[in-house]
Amino acid sequence: MPAADFLVLDGIAKHYGSVAAVREVSVRVAQGEFLGLLGPSGCGKTTTLQMIAGFETPSAGAIRLEGRDLAAIPANRRNIGLVFQSYALFPHMNVAENVAFGLEMRKVPKPERTERVKRALDLVHLSHLAERYPRQMSGGQQQRVALARALVIEPRLLLLDEPLSNLDAKLREEMQVELRELQKRVGVTTILVTHDQQEAMALCDRVAVMQAGNIVQIDEPWRAYDAPADGFVADFLGRSNRLPARAGSGRAECGGHNFPLPDGFAGHTGDIALTIRPERLRIHPEGSSGLAGTVHSRVFLGGFWLVRVETAVGDMMVTVQNTGTPPAAEGERIALDWDAHSLRRMDGTLS
Ligand code: ATP
Repeated sequence: MPAADFLVLDGIAKHYGSVAAVREVSVRVAQGEFLGLLGPSGCGKTTTLQMIAGFETPSAGAIRLEGRDLAAIPANRRNIGLVFQSYALFPHMNVAENVAFGLEMRKVPKPERTERVKRALDLVHLSHLAERYPRQMSGGQQQRVALARALVIEPRLLLLDEPLSNLDAKLREEMQVELRELQKRVGVTTILVTHDQQEAMALCDRVAVMQAGNIVQIDEPWRAYDAPADGFVADFLGRSNRLPARAGSGRAECGGHNFPLPDGFAGHTGDIALTIRPERLRIHPEGSSGLAGTVHSRVFLGGFWLVRVETAVGDMMVTVQNTGTPPAAEGERIALDWDAHSLRRMDGTLS
């Protein structure tokens, strides 16, 4: 039975003089879980990770790993594997030597070292390149070596700080799939720092969305996307539209369109701020029932179209998944509608 409180961040904060890098972060991470710390630049993700690693000391709060307070344990005794954006491989050592380095430091005998290096390289599918030097490898291969080097010590915790940011888009996607499979296979509890919402959603069991040194929401990725805690999370996790409306008797009016509210909103009267994801909006010909608008632009993004529509209440972004035929043309008058259950209140609540 995996421990639910394998890693506990208990109200940790970090102040640099008057700068509060981390204000108050509390989270419980289960054994084997893949947790993402996600947020814009400067929100305190890296500082949080550095405190777990032991490179920074919290100004307040405690970090417990398997029930033990880490405060008195220096970074090199925490048995934590680290992978950063820059792979930081030793250029004068070949792949096998790079991976073996941590084991040498720990005085692991040679025969066991060789065996463990082989296993770690097998894990990242690089056994055939054991003799190569870092400069003879692609970015993706180097990052796999960095992963093998972190995993070979059999860490209790794996910390990843923007590990895929240096890779081009296609390779990054491939590595995301690989990294997620590897993490599940090895079962190592993992914390990922990223500002890339797509990456956090692809990799993590849960994401903790951070803003200005605090966690504003922690949830499974699809839940955070579907029911964001507030407008900040809604925007950070994807595109969203605002629908300012006037509610009454279970219905609402927005830009001349009168529509039903979901059941849970029934008691609401007066001004109400609603949000809706672009993929929940549908485009209909002019004159159909819906919120009237004009197509401002449409862009084909590979898997879907992104259409910007000007309406009486502001611009709406609409995604259209039907890739066979282009949606309404630029300048065309259209009407937008949606299902009541797709609406969210601005504060993220469903009702
Ligand atoms: P990024 O994605 O840009 O790395 P981040 O979310 O990881 O951002 P942190 O690096 O944790 O953010 O920094 C949080 C805040 O603390 C920032 O405002 C940063 O300028 C500040 N900060 C970080 N380290 C120090 C330091 N050593 N001295 C003073 N301020 C610091």
